[in-house]
Amino acid sequence: MPARILDGTKIAADIRAEVSARVKSLTAAGIRPGLAVVLVGHNPASEVYVRGKVKSSHEVGLYSEQHTPAETATTDELLALISDLNRRDEIDGILVQLPLPSHVDAKKILLAVDPAKDVDGFHPMNVGYLSTQRPGLVPCTPAGVMEILRRSSIRIAGQEAVVVGRSDIVGKPVAMLLLNENATVTVCHSKTRDLPEVGRRADILIAAIGRAGMITADYVKPGATVVDVGINKITDRKEFDRFFVGDKKREEAFLAKGATLIGDVHPEVTEVAGAITPVPGGIGPRTIAMLMSNTVKAAMLRRGLSA
Ligand code: NDP
Repeated sequence: MPARILDGTKIAADIRAEVSARVKSLTAAGIRPGLAVVLVGHNPASEVYVRGKVKSSHEVGLYSEQHTPAETATTDELLALISDLNRRDEIDGILVQLPLPSHVDAKKILLAVDPAKDVDGFHPMNVGYLSTQRPGLVPCTPAGVMEILRRSSIRIAGQEAVVVGRSDIVGKPVAMLLLNENATVTVCHSKTRDLPEVGRRADILIAAIGRAGMITADYVKPGATVVDVGINKITDRKEFDRFFVGDKKREEAFLAKGATLIGDVHPEVTEVAGAITPVPGGIGPRTIAMLMSNTVKAAMLRRGLSA
């Protein structure tokens, strides 16, 4: 029997509606949460992401502003901008869109963001809060993974969870969140021996690798829940056929756009897993919803309100 599809788009809409209601009641109490997005230069993918974030901010009623320093901006100039945003009381969240141009010291910039306004949750202070289970700001994509599991009533406590990928922005925080929810967590990476065997132990398998369709049915225990965080673009017809032969709907879209998105999980896994997030429409939509939610959380935590 094919896996239950965990619909991220629907869950994202639910989260946005909840955030919107919270923004309304905070604004009525004189607190309008504010988000500042910093986009340096002209990276086309970043521009698309930032447009989505700003649009979503408007939709949920947040105050938002966009800062677009030129590609040539120096580390010092960006530090001055961050310092100004840190100081301004009406700004609750600061998001610096990555990647930054290569001449900029990205670590220095991210470290300069006030941890209380760090809505991406990348500051070492927030990483520490997460690992010691204190209230803080949690990175959006990992928080989105947890929301989809919770809202789909997937049991976490006591389950074997395997996370493939150990990046600071996805793999590690997801692993920590699962551990905090009492899963037994294994974190895998490019040096892990016999990954399919480790994967087959998982009741919950999280793929955050960045390799199109790498997780095949051989990595998955029948009935497991599979969360596919990967977003990979396919433009080559042969690659398309390797993954999607016979999928007429996707083929039409591929022919029209010349590209399609695939996660890190092979489509054949749908036949083995008990539940699975689709790509597109799985984790992606909720990452922005969690950014909105984090901005509201920051506004509340900064004012000593429990979020
Ligand atoms: P990174 O490149 O930072 O990390 C990839 C991880 O995968 C590394 O830990 C790497 O191991 C591991 N890895 C790579 N190849 C293999 C392999 N053959 N076997 C086992 N492990 C392997 O990627 P990110 O964490 O930033 O992103 C992961 C994916 O998630 C990407 O597809 C990205 O586009 C997507 N993403 C999606 C988001 C969303 O909103 N849905 C947001 C952010 C990312 P090692 O450490 O040993 O190198």
